[in-house]
Amino acid sequence: MQGFEYLQVELDEMKEKGLVRKLVPIESSAGATVKINGKEVIQLSSNNYLGLTTHPKMIKAAIQATEEFGVGTGSVRTIAGTFSMHLALEDKLAKFKHTEASLVFQSGFTCNQGVLSAILTPEDVVISDELNHASIIDGIRLTKSGRRVYKHVDMEDLERALQETQSYRKRLIVTDGVFSMDGNIAPLPEIVELAEKYDALVMVDDAHSSGVLGQNGRGSVNHFGLDGRVHIQVGTLSKAVGVLGGYIASTRTLIDYLIHKGRPFLFSTSHSPGVVAANSAAIDVLLEEPELIEKLWDNSRFLKKGLADLGFVTGPSETPITPVIVGDESLAHQLSDKLLEYGVFAQGIAFPTVARGKARIRTIVSAAHSKEQLQVALDAFEKAGKELGII
Ligand SMILES: *Cc1c(COP(=O)(O)O)cnc(C)c1O
Repeated sequence: MQGFEYLQVELDEMKEKGLVRKLVPIESSAGATVKINGKEVIQLSSNNYLGLTTHPKMIKAAIQATEEFGVGTGSVRTIAGTFSMHLALEDKLAKFKHTEASLVFQSGFTCNQGVLSAILTPEDVVISDELNHASIIDGIRLTKSGRRVYKHVDMEDLERALQETQSYRKRLIVTDGVFSMDGNIAPLPEIVELAEKYDALVMVDDAHSSGVLGQNGRGSVNHFGLDGRVHIQVGTLSKAVGVLGGYIASTRTLIDYLIHKGRPFLFSTSHSPGVVAANSAAIDVLLEEPELIEKLWDNSRFLKKGLADLGFVTGPSETPITPVIVGDESLAHQLSDKLLEYGVFAQGIAFPTVARGKARIRTIVSAAHSKEQLQVALDAFEKAGKELGII
């Protein structure tokens, strides 16, 4: 069929620069190792921080709920797609997060889109960290509010932004809790202090902190002892929690408002019973098995130290996200290819996911890895890194 030649031209250009990537089909569950091309390799690219994608209690809960309630709900939440289990999960999440209420969306992505587009008008302004996740950027694009982007974690620039925006009705500061490509933690105590000084609202996207930071994985707000001082916490159920979905934890007022105005909530079908039941079981696992989080951090320290000792540039990470920054986009993909050859699945990440010239392999360890597996991975990094002249 004719019509997309102009897109093919662009794809061909990307191919010439080594920027076209094939999707990598995985032939097993998303565990500490995965099967790719028939070969078992060590997985270092997944957000499955705690190994919960295959937790027996969660699998059992999903099967039971599916058998009793079916594979789908048949409707959006606001018409006929709210089952009692959806409400029970939201109560559980609110208690877990120490907030008045919570609301589950299809994904973390739609949470950010849904809340930002619902609560901001041209009378308001959103003040956003320059390295915030794409879903926050897209959420902002959907509003007609004022916008001010501040330099990454730069509190002086944030204060300037707050001073420059005093004429707006409401000001909302929005930040990732953990930045997804570098693994650094947002300076939330300073952000909250500035917000209180200038009477602004704060929203934290805890996608990479849910299940990772804070008591039992309650997130970055709890990690800093800021419960009750952050207006909107966005969590994901798709990463460390191991299933699918996102939620907003906040006041009853905001949640009631979003039930009426959150567009993905209103216009896209609710989660299947199996998804809801697995998410609910995951919160029990977080409460009952805190040793998983300890193991995650222990593994994280081991891999980080090993990579740094080999001479790789790993950036400012403070969390299990450990980037191996190589700069050149095609070099990142070559390193990834070599690693796969040596038994390690660690994807290269390039523009537009990170800035041009900041291409990297992003590694994430999990609680499910053994030290032996991580040592095998480090040996592969050493071999591949030397062959490519990176170390
Ligand atoms: C992954 C991610 C999201 C999206 O979460 P999903 O549940 O996968 O849609 C949102 N924000 C940040 C910072 C993320 O890293």
